[in-house]
Amino acid sequence: MRLSLKYLIALVALLSVILTMTASIISGYRAEQQSLIESTLETNQAYAEKMAITTDGFLSSTLQSLKISGKYLSSYMSSEYVDDYLIPEADRMREQTNTFNSVSIVDKEGQILATSPQTLDLMGKELDSIGGKQALKKREPYISQPYVGLTNRLIIFISSPIVDENGRYLGLIGGTIYLKEDNILQEVLGEHFYENGSYVYVVDQSGRIIYHQNHDRVNDIVLENPVVKQIQLGKSGAMEVVNTEGIEMLAGYSPIPLTNWGVVTQRSKKESLAPSITMIKEMAKMTVPFIIISLLVILYIAHQIANPLTKLASYAESSTENNQEEKINKVRAWYYEAIQLKKALNYSLNFFQDRVNFFIHQSTIDPLTKLKNRRAMDAYLKEWTEQETPYAVLIFDIDKFKRINDTYGHSVGDEVLKYLAESMHYVTRKDDVCCRFGGEEFVILLPETDQKAAFQIAERLRKKLESTVSPCGEVVTISIGIATCPQDGTHPAELLELADQCLYEAKRTGRNRTVECATLMK
Ligand code: GH3
Ligand code: MG
Ligand code: MG
Repeated sequence: MRLSLKYLIALVALLSVILTMTASIISGYRAEQQSLIESTLETNQAYAEKMAITTDGFLSSTLQSLKISGKYLSSYMSSEYVDDYLIPEADRMREQTNTFNSVSIVDKEGQILATSPQTLDLMGKELDSIGGKQALKKREPYISQPYVGLTNRLIIFISSPIVDENGRYLGLIGGTIYLKEDNILQEVLGEHFYENGSYVYVVDQSGRIIYHQNHDRVNDIVLENPVVKQIQLGKSGAMEVVNTEGIEMLAGYSPIPLTNWGVVTQRSKKESLAPSITMIKEMAKMTVPFIIISLLVILYIAHQIANPLTKLASYAESSTENNQEEKINKVRAWYYEAIQLKKALNYSLNFFQDRVNFFIHQSTIDPLTKLKNRRAMDAYLKEWTEQETPYAVLIFDIDKFKRINDTYGHSVGDEVLKYLAESMHYVTRKDDVCCRFGGEEFVILLPETDQKAAFQIAERLRKKLESTVSPCGEVVTISIGIATCPQDGTHPAELLELADQCLYEAKRTGRNRTVECATLMK
């Protein structure tokens, strides 16, 4: 299949439009993805920082309310006040603050004086939880590391010392938060954020998860996580990480100063990038009409560019037909290459036309006398026969020409032949056809001429020669035979033969005379 220039141009242009658009869509998509990643990281960092501040605030206010309670309890730290003061205060701390899963009041020896709820059945017993023992030892406001308590729960223990007005240590009031069950941290850290695929978790200073939306994850050690490493260094920030399930995440993180814990807020990268997929679909949709318009414009331009060349090419292909020059001139060549091509085509067409005309002319002309040759004569006879044009044929031959040649030489003989040709033109009309029939025999074809008129012309020529000195210095005479169409015949060969016979008769009867068919018949 031959691809036309028009479609080739259109194809190339369309390809470049599509490629450009694809490239711009892809780069737009990349930029959108990048900005989505950056904004998600930024949001997550901001949220982690906010959560860290909130948690820090919550923990310090918890310590503060334990301290206030401790101050109140300092006057009642003996067994006689258990029912009236200690248990009600433990209940109040648990129920009113709504912070703790359980609350205990412990004396300085570590004996539990009161608990809330009392169902724990720990009153009078020794406080032997890890967090509790640590707190007793430290005798200062304390937030424990997570540990597994007596009731086999994962717990953190928050406590404040109880001292009398002289600063003597009397014991402590402490509360527990059960990490794997519903607890205050959930309220603090909130659930609402999870809806868009984000979630928050909190790690302690040893890289243990102490809060996670999925309770099963609590107590997992995630030290390997690069985010946790940053938290342990006390840094806040944001980064891309892969979570334990191998899912790419965009995480923000921030440490909680009071406890050296850290909050991590993260969202799956895939979900974060979902809007960019929507965007690319929108962009692709918007591009379709643009491509259609481009296609139409491209086809129009390609047509305008290719059309002159296509036309010139087709005219060049059929350059031998008539009127091609006229057609070529009508081609609207509006740019350099087409203009040059049009010029070149016109030039070569003219050039070849001239050459052809020249050769046609050459092939029908006798070089010595410039009279028409036999080939041209035959063409006229054929045409007139077809058109049934009446005509007369004169055939004549120079009398005793051999002698002229012999006497004056061949080249003088040639001059005599040329002189005879001029004389033929002299006595004939524009439409008469003067031919050299062979050697020193000539023919004049006279269209629309009857016998009488032909005879007059023949005589005019004969008499002119008879009365004029030829280039050889003497008068040359001719003998003439005449035949006419349609009187004597209609076929050219037949007429020529008849005229020749008349010529022969003229020679025979003395030369320098004209003989017609009618005479011959007598
Ligand atoms: P006739 O009266 O019977 O015609 O006598 P003629 O001598 O003319 O006899 P013929 O017609 O047979 O002679 C023709 C001569 O014409 C022979 C030839 O030498 C001469 N001839 C033919 N063609 C040319 C030519 O091109 N140039 C010259 N110079 N002579 C030619
Ligand atoms: Mg002759
Ligand atoms: Mg002769």
